[in-house]
Amino acid sequence: MLKKPVKLFITLAALMSIAACSEKPGELIEAADASLILINGRVYTLDWDEPGQDGTVAPGAPRDAGGWHPDAQAIVIRDGKILFAGTNVEAVKFQGDSTRIIDLAGATVIPGLVDSHTHVFGLGALLDQVNLVGVETEEEAVELIVERAKSVPKGEWIVGRGWDEGAWANRYPDKALLTAKVPEHPVFMDSLHGFAGWANQVALDAAGITAESEVPVGGEMRLGTDGQPTGLFLNQAVQMLSSAVPAPSRETLAKQVLLGLNQMAADGYTAVHDAGLDSQRMSVLEELEAQDRLPIRVYAMLSLRDEDLVRKWIAKGPDTDTDSMLVTRTVKAYYDGALGSRGARLLYDYADKPGHRGVSGGDYGFNQALNAEAMKAGFQIAIHAIGDAGNREALDILEAVFEKHPATAANRHRIEHAQVLSPEDIPRLGQLGVIASMEPPHAMEDKAWAEQRLGPERILGAYAWRSLRETGARLTFNSDNPGSDHDIFYGLHSAITRQDKDQQPEGGWYPHQRVTVEEALRAYTTWSAYASFREDESGVIEAGRWADLTVMDIDPFVVADQRPGRILAGRVVMTIVDGKVVHER
Ligand SMILES: [Zn+2]
Repeated sequence: MLKKPVKLFITLAALMSIAACSEKPGELIEAADASLILINGRVYTLDWDEPGQDGTVAPGAPRDAGGWHPDAQAIVIRDGKILFAGTNVEAVKFQGDSTRIIDLAGATVIPGLVDSHTHVFGLGALLDQVNLVGVETEEEAVELIVERAKSVPKGEWIVGRGWDEGAWANRYPDKALLTAKVPEHPVFMDSLHGFAGWANQVALDAAGITAESEVPVGGEMRLGTDGQPTGLFLNQAVQMLSSAVPAPSRETLAKQVLLGLNQMAADGYTAVHDAGLDSQRMSVLEELEAQDRLPIRVYAMLSLRDEDLVRKWIAKGPDTDTDSMLVTRTVKAYYDGALGSRGARLLYDYADKPGHRGVSGGDYGFNQALNAEAMKAGFQIAIHAIGDAGNREALDILEAVFEKHPATAANRHRIEHAQVLSPEDIPRLGQLGVIASMEPPHAMEDKAWAEQRLGPERILGAYAWRSLRETGARLTFNSDNPGSDHDIFYGLHSAITRQDKDQQPEGGWYPHQRVTVEEALRAYTTWSAYASFREDESGVIEAGRWADLTVMDIDPFVVADQRPGRILAGRVVMTIVDGKVVHER
């Protein structure tokens, strides 16, 4: 991608050869110059009718016998908004002295991607750790930690992860070298799979760990020939270290959330929905917004578990100022556990654990009264529900509030994950206007064991994207990172093929639940805009909307038709938020 503005030299002949645009920019040309003009792009505006519930492309969509083709070449941006989308010839008429022109050289532009369920502080915390993945020796690892220590105030913990407890099993590290080289910071290095932890003496002292410390059942604290802890902890004993690491400071949180947001920007996202924020993290975001430091838009969900925070917001009401970079009008509720660990609440016993159905509701800490109060105060509820019983009960709870307080039904409530649904509950989402907020990668990551948990019948209502669409539910797609990879190409590939990164299984896993490339892209753009009440400002490339755009080096429409496996090779080349280039490869 070109870093500097490119002067355009368009000959008359070249101008003549480009088809004239029917839309006239009119007197706007004189009124003001563009700040940014993108030319020579394969622009898919999504500014055409929605596909049918079975995925059928609308008659006005840019698709013919030859397949998909872009519906614009160029985009003109001014004051953070799209001024024009159309041909190169018309677009360059908006050029002024200070206009930057970017030649996209055939790259594809779509409306800005939205990851509608993320944990961006968690992503940032992971990025902030010392990364020991792939490091082969203790000496090499210590050097990396020494480097990090140079930028960390004395006394502050240095945390990392990724040394391979399997490969290092015959030569486990200990505290000696680490303490000698890093004597002024407590250090805790978790292993690749979390079954081993390594610390220096400063960390042992800070954690109050001595030879006499009680070791949890199922754990081992290694002792040296001197009878003292060596700094190496195994299995359940790792928590002796992890539990000693103090909660991050406000400064650390700010640094980490910016790391996370900048990473999302680099990966093509113009907005994230953060699925569950406590008071401290909300106030960090508010401060960053006040300082104009948020690189992408943040749609915040208040954690229902933070009662004081939710009550504070109920008192002042939802923030409906859609123009600000941080918007808060949602409460994230937690209704049941996860399927893998058999915490999700099922209507009948787990297929692989008779007598067990998981936990939900009050037993899982769900505060139904506070949830209803938030709904009455006008908040959107995003309720985590995984099991078929969890989902049914969550729908029942929403429906009961709708009946008593009909105005609450209009607030676009969402079920986060909506992972396993009983066939009779699938149509209820559409009927109740409840959005299914789902993660295509989860289906690919869970397919190894999901059917063991559910058996051959219930699996048919799991990750049921098409069934939900067919019964009128709105979808929004997301990653639930950092637990899952937010790479958009992985997400699109999962959604379109129902195949994992190794393109398995052949033909796709329960492939009738696939969605089309258009539906998948809309679920990360147009439909995510709806899920956050921003469908008038974003989600489509059209004059007057926010200039939030994602540029990629593959044309996902064409690739999906021809070689869907190649979607995985796509790369984001540019991310534009509010008319500003926030990432450029
Ligand atoms: Zn989540």
